[in-house]
Amino acid sequence: MGFSKEDLQDIFYNNNGVCYHCHHILVLEYYGKRVFGGWCVDHRNPSSRGGVDDLRNWRPSCYPCNEEKNDKTTYEYGKRQRQPPFLRDY
Ligand SMILES: [Zn+2]
Repeated sequence: MGFSKEDLQDIFYNNNGVCYHCHHILVLEYYGKRVFGGWCVDHRNPSSRGGVDDLRNWRPSCYPCNEEKNDKTTYEYGKRQRQPPFLRDY
């Protein structure tokens, strides 16, 4: 899915530039890059499960969190124990 530059800035700054799940610091320019500090847009409620496609449902997420979360809702994912991403593999 494509996001405009403005969308991405809103998503990023609305969450203070950290991963919504683990609070790891992200770099705005690293959107879509699978590197340390890189991030992608996570749907709090996955669209496959009725989540809406706008800012209310978009959160910045680091790659490890996004992949672990998969199509769980944020509530379901939040129940799991998480490690900060520097302890995981990129
Ligand atoms: Zn994360």
